[in-house]
Amino acid sequence: MKTSIEPFKIKTVEEIPITTREEREIYIKEAFFNTFYLRSDTVTIDLLTDSGTTAMSSKQWAHILDGDEAYAGSRSFFKFESILREITGFKHIIPTHQGRAAERILFSVISKPGLIIPNNTHFDTTRGNVEFSGATAIDLPTEIGTKPEIPGDFKGNINIPALRNLIENYGKENIPLCFITITNNTGGGQPVSMENIRETKKLLNEYGIPLFLDCCRFAENAYFIKLREPGYQSKTIMEIVQEMFSYADGCTMSAKKDGLANTGGFIGTNDTDLAEKLKVNLIVTEGFPTYGGLARRDLEALAIGFREVLNENYLAYRVGQVKYLGDLLMEANVPILVPTGGHAVYLDGARFAPHIPPHQFPGQSIACEIYRVGGIRVVEIGSVMFGRKDESGNFIPASMELIRLAIPRRVYTKSHIDYVAEAIIEVYQNRDSLRGMRLTYEAPLLRHFTAKFEYV
Ligand SMILES: *Cc1c(COP(=O)(O)O)cnc(C)c1O
Repeated sequence: MKTSIEPFKIKTVEEIPITTREEREIYIKEAFFNTFYLRSDTVTIDLLTDSGTTAMSSKQWAHILDGDEAYAGSRSFFKFESILREITGFKHIIPTHQGRAAERILFSVISKPGLIIPNNTHFDTTRGNVEFSGATAIDLPTEIGTKPEIPGDFKGNINIPALRNLIENYGKENIPLCFITITNNTGGGQPVSMENIRETKKLLNEYGIPLFLDCCRFAENAYFIKLREPGYQSKTIMEIVQEMFSYADGCTMSAKKDGLANTGGFIGTNDTDLAEKLKVNLIVTEGFPTYGGLARRDLEALAIGFREVLNENYLAYRVGQVKYLGDLLMEANVPILVPTGGHAVYLDGARFAPHIPPHQFPGQSIACEIYRVGGIRVVEIGSVMFGRKDESGNFIPASMELIRLAIPRRVYTKSHIDYVAEAIIEVYQNRDSLRGMRLTYEAPLLRHFTAKFEYV
């Protein structure tokens, strides 16, 4: 059969709001032209994030009812721990309520002012937590990793020669650990190859620096390895993820992604001393180590989700749906980051609206217009999110001006995707009318969440 289908049928439905263009004109203005301020009951298709927006399976819902809400020693925790030990091989599995809690706990234990944390590309909350600890977050993407128009199999890779230089320049004693983010969310949801993880570990071993994975999308990354990396075609997804984690000393994860549930996260590590320190911090701020700030029924849903996400039919549908949207846009010449990644299509704002300079946030303008045309919510991942000012106040743009269309897992059908493509193609055809924007409010950290804008 040539037609690809969603590998599930629908048991429960949720109505989606349908609005008029006139209404949306008012809603986006009331949202200060920032899609984070939109109320979800004004959004028809919500592609703001793939985080915690997953549709759970009937099996997950069934196990939720069976959750053991014991404060300590809950059997739901042991199910969660058991599947994660099988996947990651880590001795210590420490649950947290989401990914950034795992990051905050880890960095408040291992990081301090003066230290350096390298990563292929830090996700925004990871960078936020590194900087909040006083350390410096350094991104080391490869050359093609920041070139949206150039295709490549593993554009998420970390730049290993640059990592070696960094260690030589700053000294291994100033680098408590190195991160690799799989898939590279900020860099376009692009996968990291097994070879890159293995070689990074080899390099770090020379200096005694631990390797941690920011493993939010480990299953999607593994599926790309199976598709693209020589030698992995006949391996199962479980075998591939186990090999990926075998090179790491620990991980942090937002289970709101490949945990296929609506909340959760964890830290994994083999280092018992570190685990003890992390647990002290966890108890003070999140909860006891057998629930980490989650309801135990959430751990049940995650224990099932971590198995379901390794299903190859699911992953083929997942990656295929993202590619399907990318292909529709490319057929209409809409500039996108290529190839499409695991969880999102990224529009290339710099080529989409070249008449708007980076300091006037082309991506923000495009995101607002996509909402006006189709009631579709997307997010800017460009100079609003990552632009900075140097010491003398000069604007430093982000390395790419992207707009992310994140696809929630198992939520939207092919006709929803067709609708999204139609709206974006319309915005692209009328791109000359897009106008630049300026900030009217920004917070000191992670400003994109709460920033307010006006048109210049
Ligand atoms: C989502 C995400 C995080 C943060 O997780 P939250 O659950 O949103 O706190 C960290 N790193 C990456 C790569 C992510 O995608």
